[in-house]
Amino acid sequence: MVNSVPSAWEKIRKKNEVSWFYHQMWTKKLQFKIAFILWRVWKQKLPMDDVLARMGISIVSICRYCSQPQQETLEHIFLAEDYATTVWKVFTDAADIQGPFVQAAPTIRLWQLWKRMNTVVHGGTMSKAKVLYDINMNLVQLAKLKYP
Ligand SMILES: [Zn+2]
Repeated sequence: MVNSVPSAWEKIRKKNEVSWFYHQMWTKKLQFKIAFILWRVWKQKLPMDDVLARMGISIVSICRYCSQPQQETLEHIFLAEDYATTVWKVFTDAADIQGPFVQAAPTIRLWQLWKRMNTVVHGGTMSKAKVLYDINMNLVQLAKLKYP
């Protein structure tokens, strides 16, 4: 029997099974703004030059970091650019990261690379050491929330 709008909604809504990937994407206790970056990258919902170009927005695309001209793309900024490869390598080599941190670490790396990009876009600078430090601090913060 339906006796409220929420219960009616539960009766008529179509539920899909939660995919393994989406389940892995969200780390409990990780700050939403950080967790959300993985979804935004996956769905290409960040205003990167390649995304804007696909939307029909004409733009001259040049990576702000590389000395050799490169197009600013999601893949370049988050995976291929020298800075990004360093960030991924440092934490890939830290094989003792376990548990929820294995799940959260890639998301936190994306978040910090995104923060760095926005800092540079707005005229600031952010060293590799600062990015690596902030990633560690995000992991420490997550540990404190998970294991108070
Ligand atoms: Zn570049």
